[in-house]
Order: sequence, then C-alpha cells, then structure tokens
Amino acid sequence: MTFDPVFLANLTLVMTAFAGAFLVVLWISLVVWTYRDIRARARDPLVQTLAALLVAVLNLPGVLVYLILRPPRTLEEEYQRTLEEEALLQALEDLPLCPGCERRVKEEWQICPNCHTKLKKTCHNCSRLMELPWNICPYCGTPAPGMRLEATSLDDALKGIKVTEEPEGSGN
Ligand SMILES: [Zn+2]
Ligand SMILES: [Zn+2]
Repeated sequence: MTFDPVFLANLTLVMTAFAGAFLVVLWISLVVWTYRDIRARARDPLVQTLAALLVAVLNLPGVLVYLILRPPRTLEEEYQRTLEEEALLQALEDLPLCPGCERRVKEEWQICPNCHTKLKKTCHNCSRLMELPWNICPYCGTPAPGMRLEATSLDDALKGIKVTEEPEGSGN
C-alpha cells in the first residue's frame, strides 16, 4: 500500500486547518463562557473585562486562574442568601421579649426559662394559652379565674356574692 505524497500533504493541511479552526472556536468559546460566568457573579464592568481578557490572553491556563479567583457565589445565590439572612433576622425580631430579663422567648412559652417570669397563662376550661392581661379566653369564652372580679364593677362583684350565698341561705 503506497501513499501519494501530494495526497498526504493535502491531508496534513486539511487536518491542521481543522485543528486550527477547532482551537480558535474553543478559544472564543472559553472567552464567551468566562464573560457569561463573570457577569453572573460580578456587577463591576472592570472585573468583567479583566476576567474576559485573562482568558482571551492565557486561554486554558487563564480559565484555571479564573476558576480559582472568581467570586464563589453568583449574584443570584448572593441575593438568595441575603433574603434568607433577612428572613432569619426578621424571625428573631418577631420573637417577643421576656418582661423580666429582656431575653427572647417563644410565643408558646408559659414561663421564662431564664428568670422564671410568668409569660402566659392557660385557660382553665380549654387549656389554650392566653396573654396574662386577658380576663376572658378568646377560644372558648370562659372568664379567667382571678381576673373576673378585677374586670367587673363592685356591684357585679356583690351580685356574684349574693347569688352564691342565696342557695346556702335557702338550704338552712
Ligand atoms: Zn426572663
Ligand atoms: Zn378557653
């Protein structure tokens, strides 16, 4: 089997041309990829230009350097992180403070675990949590014991006493 030297030369030329074209396309692709990537990570036009230039000049080693130096998070990821942090802070701020020691307490706590201040009371009828100043349960309408006399007038309080006394009197 013999090869025509002219054919061989042509083949080499064509292959070199293909390889060259491939390298050029790869080079441009790397620059385009870098430019897109840096635009997702940095707003500064100078940084964007420098990153594209780095890869345009150094090509593959430039990409390597870029991968090492690029900002670790994209702007989108950074934004999400800020949102999460804000939500976390907001959740912390929403927690009520203990009136005794000013530490954050949870909504469903009855007693502050730090200073033992009473934070909430339970309805004696339905056992749900009530704010301390409430004198009636908002869930079942049962008046809170002890708070009842405070909220009613003296007349009402006296009436209450009479009503409880009457059955005793009629019984005797
Ligand atoms: Zn406390
Ligand atoms: Zn209740």
